[in-house]
Amino acid sequence: MILILLGAPGVGKGTQSSRLAERLDVAKVATGDILRAAVREGSELGKQARSFMEAGELVPDELILDLIGEVLASPEAADGAILDGFPRTVPQAEGLDALLRKHDRSLDGVVVIEVADEVIVRRMSGRRVCDACGAVFNVHSDPPSEEGVCDRCGGALRQRSDDAEDTVRHRLTVYRENTAPLIEFYDARPVPVHTVDGDQPIEAVEGDILANLGR
Ligand code: AMP
Repeated sequence: MILILLGAPGVGKGTQSSRLAERLDVAKVATGDILRAAVREGSELGKQARSFMEAGELVPDELILDLIGEVLASPEAADGAILDGFPRTVPQAEGLDALLRKHDRSLDGVVVIEVADEVIVRRMSGRRVCDACGAVFNVHSDPPSEEGVCDRCGGALRQRSDDAEDTVRHRLTVYRENTAPLIEFYDARPVPVHTVDGDQPIEAVEGDILANLGR
């Protein structure tokens, strides 16, 4: 099973892809998570990606396609993958097609999660991530028991630099310009495209996605 989760930053792709990966027993492949880890480690990829990420811009397609090529060839993705945050441009989607053909695999579906921009801005500027374990909280909707401290591991919670409000608004513009056209791209192909309302409790969004997938 190879599934793409599409949607603006902050619609809940990360949360849903983790849940779906667990339920469907396939890998979660989140390019943003992989890139942030590369930046933390100071790897060559991290060095090349960092300035784009901090500005809320897209990392160049070639870097992302190299990364995805490696992931699709790895044993973790052998049984399938939920792609979260990839593809984000038409050239990436075309590159994905070529990679899937090369590995003799195909796309099973595209899930589009929709949420209004103002809801996204509020959600994202409230988001706090644990430095140590990566757990995600939200000061508005899912606050930690103690401010600034991770409930799971006691690590320090921080706002991602690209979750600041101005950067979030810029990322929404980047989404509309570069990524939203992928909905039409996939609508024009035989792959099923399912749209779900992301402005609902997490379990309801997951239920809608599973229902659309016939699970
Ligand atoms: P995310 O966690 O998916 O919101 O990604 C965080 C940042 O990583 C984005 O704002 C981009 O700078 C970069 N990024 C993640 N995935 C991609 C991708 N598929 N193409 C280009 N840039 C990406």
